Amino acid sequence: MSDSVSRRRFLASAGAVLGVGPILSACGGGDVTAASCAGYDQLDAAALQQRQSLEYVDVSQVPGQRCDNCRFYNAPEGGSPCGGCQLFAGPVAPAGWCRSWVAMAA
Ligand code: SF4
Repeated sequence: MSDSVSRRRFLASAGAVLGVGPILSACGGGDVTAASCAGYDQLDAAALQQRQSLEYVDVSQVPGQRCDNCRFYNAPEGGSPCGGCQLFAGPVAPAGWCRSWVAMAA
């Protein structure tokens, strides 16, 4: 088995354990090296755990509550489809949500 296949399997397994698949799929179709969400592959286990503890998902299930209308959202820069969150590191999908959502100030 080649190194790239082993690495892919490891990352897929790690993603499944940490529940980051939805995050990755929102930011590049599951490829952790996707340039569209540069920086995600730089996250350490603690940062991933922080996302999980806040129950972050890439597609909000709460009507009217999305990352892009949350006070803590940082708009995308440099043509990236993903923004960021002031509460944790790494890319955040505009349509995402976590339990720390707070309405953007009017
Ligand atoms: S706090 Fe939660 S809902 Fe708000 S931008 Fe960050 S991840 Fe999205």
